[in-house]
Amino acid sequence: MRRKFVAGNWKMNCSLSEAQQLAQDICTSLEKEEISVDVAICPTFLCLSSICSLVKDFQKQGGSDIGVGAQNLHWENKGAFTGEVSAPMLHDMGCSYAIIGHSERRTLFGETNEAVSKKALAALQSGLLPIVCIGETLEERENEKTEEVLRLQLEGSLAGLSPAQVEACTIAYEPVWAIGTGKTASPEMAQTVHAFIRNYLTQKYTSAIAQSIRIQYGGSVKPDNIRELINQPDIDGALVGGASLKADSFSEIIKLCSL
Ligand code: PEP
Repeated sequence: MRRKFVAGNWKMNCSLSEAQQLAQDICTSLEKEEISVDVAICPTFLCLSSICSLVKDFQKQGGSDIGVGAQNLHWENKGAFTGEVSAPMLHDMGCSYAIIGHSERRTLFGETNEAVSKKALAALQSGLLPIVCIGETLEERENEKTEEVLRLQLEGSLAGLSPAQVEACTIAYEPVWAIGTGKTASPEMAQTVHAFIRNYLTQKYTSAIAQSIRIQYGGSVKPDNIRELINQPDIDGALVGGASLKADSFSEIIKLCSL
């Protein structure tokens, strides 16, 4: 049985004090006994150090276990890469996860499948668990190219990873047309794609690996649509953008996934 996994992608939002307040509010609204899913929050690089300490202190005091993830990383460990941050640095800071290949990175910053695969490998080699994002644009969906696009993204983004390394990844299916738009894929539509992804993983690796990989859905997830999505057999959690910036909506999503 796959344990569900909800992650909040804060994107380029929150000053340090706002991030601390948000993390504090999320921590205090999540009673340990109520939560039966894995949870992660992904602030900007600038806030990671502080938020890692905050969630660690909270856990030491008997609070829920909340992981912290980065939103990106560079595949080299160190060197002349101005403005970049490496996987060992993030792990050293206390991160457990890294979002890799988010559609905003792919479309706005030209991130290719090859770069995504190098980043995922670097993350794994440093002890970070990658959340590898894939998803089709509206045009691709309308042209019935969804499966072809996702197959290429999966093939390229997981290239170079051993089967065991692939098993350590979470896949986030995020239709680009549903991100930050208020449009969500219907539960049936999302389930069809998640089943396609799991089937791809079965063919490419093994059924055991495919069955153990968590596939999150992302795209305008909110408290009022998460129940129907999470009830689908191949939806194992959510990658949440906008609704993760408010402690009450994010914790509500987590609690609804824990029912
Ligand atoms: C995201 O950016 O990963 C995302 C799913 O955003 P939103 O929930 O705001 O659509």
